[in-house]
Amino acid sequence: MSLPVGLRLAGRTVLVAGGGPVAERRVRALLIERARVLLVAPEVTEELARLADQDPHLVWHRRRAAAADLDGVWLLFAHTSSPRAQRELAEAAESRRIFAVIGGDPQASTAWSAAAARAHGVSVGVNAAADPARAKAVAAWIQARLETGEAPVRARREQVLESPDESRLPPGGVALVGGGPGDPGLLTVRGRHLLADADVVVADRLGPVDLLPRLAEHARIIDVGKRAGYHKVTQDRINATLVEEARKGLRVVRLKGGDPFVFGRGGEEEEYCAAHGVPVEVVPGITSAVSVPAAAGIPVTHRNLSHGFSVVTAHTELPVVPHDRAHTLILLMGVRRLADTSRHLIELGHDPLTPVAIVERGWTPEQRTTVGTLETIAQLARRRGVRAPAVIVVGDVAAMGASTD
Ligand code: SAH
Repeated sequence: MSLPVGLRLAGRTVLVAGGGPVAERRVRALLIERARVLLVAPEVTEELARLADQDPHLVWHRRRAAAADLDGVWLLFAHTSSPRAQRELAEAAESRRIFAVIGGDPQASTAWSAAAARAHGVSVGVNAAADPARAKAVAAWIQARLETGEAPVRARREQVLESPDESRLPPGGVALVGGGPGDPGLLTVRGRHLLADADVVVADRLGPVDLLPRLAEHARIIDVGKRAGYHKVTQDRINATLVEEARKGLRVVRLKGGDPFVFGRGGEEEEYCAAHGVPVEVVPGITSAVSVPAAAGIPVTHRNLSHGFSVVTAHTELPVVPHDRAHTLILLMGVRRLADTSRHLIELGHDPLTPVAIVERGWTPEQRTTVGTLETIAQLARRRGVRAPAVIVVGDVAAMGASTD
């Protein structure tokens, strides 16, 4: 058993006995805490010798540690290679009521050094009975969550900003973050960090929406994907919101499905922010155009089957794409006009037997694939009640997918 406490060691003397790699790690950690470190060991690592040369908070005595070294000390780390020395130091510390971490001997120790995770001013120490490896593994797991913001470590900036002195507003900004096709694992690390740091998240209906409830701990979520009655929030309104929030000094993440610049109107949002003097960062995302077919086992290019691909929405671009089964056509936002589109493609010269796959809700548990040909797909889709959002793939590669239930 042990009681977790945080020791505030700045300016207090800590004795480190022994000069090997473990001692080195301890010394480094103690120096970060701005403790005064007394290092006693006949020999030390090169790095410790260098630190002792450079850092006035570290003093090295080149000899074996003895009980007398404990005078004036608050805490002991014993990491010598001699079991006898360890035992003697443990006893000396015990009789002086100085807490001691005795390396390799949790039972003789009166303090256990926790494996630590730190980020955003929060530190978590992990002790796992006498099993340091398990503690380290748990600490690493926590560290990742602190860094990515999955743990709600950040204070809301809006509270900070409620200070009376508005002239000291920190600079806000907008990040246009591509969220990928839906699975939170397919968001970039940069995007995840920005979300962890966001004060406001302006979100769509598509993308990694499962993340939003977790973010709500520290950020305000503005959902512009939801239809209020029949009216979607207009693009003008979205642009204005981004600028308004950033001007309050808030960090705004505009979280979009897929990639912001692939039929995502990211370009317009970027221009609008820039024109209004708001700093913008663009974080690319994994576009559904390529990743949703992949989720259904369809590579958009494939040796001997497809040498290129076009990503289009629907009507107007159809005449200019190659009408060739070996050129993959990827249609976004195309479900409603599927019957028209497939007829049109045949008229324009596409082989009626060209395979077509429709992948609905890619990378979510409700993903479903429907495979047919240009001739049959519209009827098949109607029969199966195919709905948006879906990516439609036209070309020989589409036959690599198979219909699912
Ligand atoms: N910027 C986005 C595309 C926005 S247009 C991107 O790069 O992915 C919206 C269209 O994307 C939808 O109509 C649908 O065709 C497609 N889409 C986005 N996410 C999808 C998903 N998870 N499954 C299927 N289609 C998706």
